[in-house]
Amino acid sequence: MTLAFDNSYARDLPGAYLRLAPDPAPAPKLLVLNRPLAASLGLDLQPAEAESWFSGAALPPGADPIAQAYAGHQFGGFSPQLGDGRAHLLGEVIAPDGKRFDIQLKGSGRTPFSRGGDGKAAIGPMLREYLISEAMAALGVPTTRSLAVVATGETVWRESALPGAVLARVAASHLRVGTFQFFAARGDKAQLKALADYTIARHDTGLSGADQPYLAFLDAVIDRQAKLIAQWMGIGFIHGVMNTDNMAVSGETIDYGPCAFMEGYAPGTVFSSIDHQGRYAYANQPVILGWNIARLAETLVPLIDPDPDRAVDLANDRLQSIAGRYRTEWLAVMRAKLGLIGEDPGDAALADDLMTAMTGADWTLTFRRLADPAALRPLFDDFTVMAAWLPRWQARAGDGAARRIAAANPAVIPRNHQVEAALTAATAGDMAPFHALLAAVQEPFVEREGFMLPAPSGFGDYVTFCGT
Ligand code: AMP
Ligand code: MG
Repeated sequence: MTLAFDNSYARDLPGAYLRLAPDPAPAPKLLVLNRPLAASLGLDLQPAEAESWFSGAALPPGADPIAQAYAGHQFGGFSPQLGDGRAHLLGEVIAPDGKRFDIQLKGSGRTPFSRGGDGKAAIGPMLREYLISEAMAALGVPTTRSLAVVATGETVWRESALPGAVLARVAASHLRVGTFQFFAARGDKAQLKALADYTIARHDTGLSGADQPYLAFLDAVIDRQAKLIAQWMGIGFIHGVMNTDNMAVSGETIDYGPCAFMEGYAPGTVFSSIDHQGRYAYANQPVILGWNIARLAETLVPLIDPDPDRAVDLANDRLQSIAGRYRTEWLAVMRAKLGLIGEDPGDAALADDLMTAMTGADWTLTFRRLADPAALRPLFDDFTVMAAWLPRWQARAGDGAARRIAAANPAVIPRNHQVEAALTAATAGDMAPFHALLAAVQEPFVEREGFMLPAPSGFGDYVTFCGT
């Protein structure tokens, strides 16, 4: 079939990208194709087409591949020019429901933004993004999606020689906080305004006629991101590299690198090998939300009002509201997880006290088993505090809580030891464990024997890596 591409980003935002083609994969082999996602985009793909189009071996008709420019704060330090160092945006497809989606290849070769990198990716990390992003989607969390992973037939050199692969990623857009920072850092107000207008037209159409469209846009991003981070916290997701270039203004989770799910509840949990200070630790994610949005607000100040003092005041007002808005979203997530109907003034204390009571216990299973004390107890080394908390919850949750708990709390998340085992097998050529795990995480509310338990103690501390 032909893919009906539009290329609005390339058309409307000259100066925000470089035009160049992906590297052709020498011997592409399709490892996984997301047929339901393809169908939802209106794509009736033949596997052979997917294999060549999503590996860079051939370009789909209408594609206008580009590498996008962006800047970003990485671990707090600013890089004025990052950009797609190993990704190519093929273009945008319009789904049958009228929604526009980017289709991007990742691991598809060097670009002028590659700096020292080789522009490539190995099978393991690309399958990892596929697996985790599809798990997130099944959990109801806004996220970029994964359309396919194709092995390239090339060798990629990391600590050892690894088989290379390309991921085809689908996103509402790849407009990042860092995209705004790119033009702001250059003091290019005309380009910044063009970018903001493009973004509003794409994600917040209703705002283009608003009184204060750029302030309203800031507000809309705060809403989406506060909801998103609250959802992450609800499922125990740790992104691991919440740099401003990895925060999408669409409100989708993006850039699955060193991310992982927390097992035993500990607010300071960090998996990333380079996050020595715990900047992106589990409990610090809402703080970083505010920090990153402040960086976005700084870029928008010149657009918000011609009077800089007034613009800063208006933006600051919004920034001041983030913590409260996040807390409201978090409480809504917790009410759902606790199976609470309606709102009660005591709910915040009930949720906060659970955080104290469940220290060390498996995050996912504690919620899943709340209504079954016999199954809950073995998750705890010391059940005393939890035993005192439970009757408060039972009194508040009332009838039917067990059913609501099962509907709101997953039984299956991507367990770290199983993710690693599946990726190790796939790297060695055996895709069966990957497909079994993928099937389980795609139906997270179904109790599936063999996919529900945390890592055995012998698995040790889990460490994840960036840019692999
Ligand atoms: P990340 O922290 O994974 O979001 O990546 C930060 C930047 O590094 C982005 O601009 C990526 O495009 C770039 N990058 C990561 N891995 C590679 C690689 N193997 N080759 C070239 N650029 C890379
Ligand atoms: Mg990134």
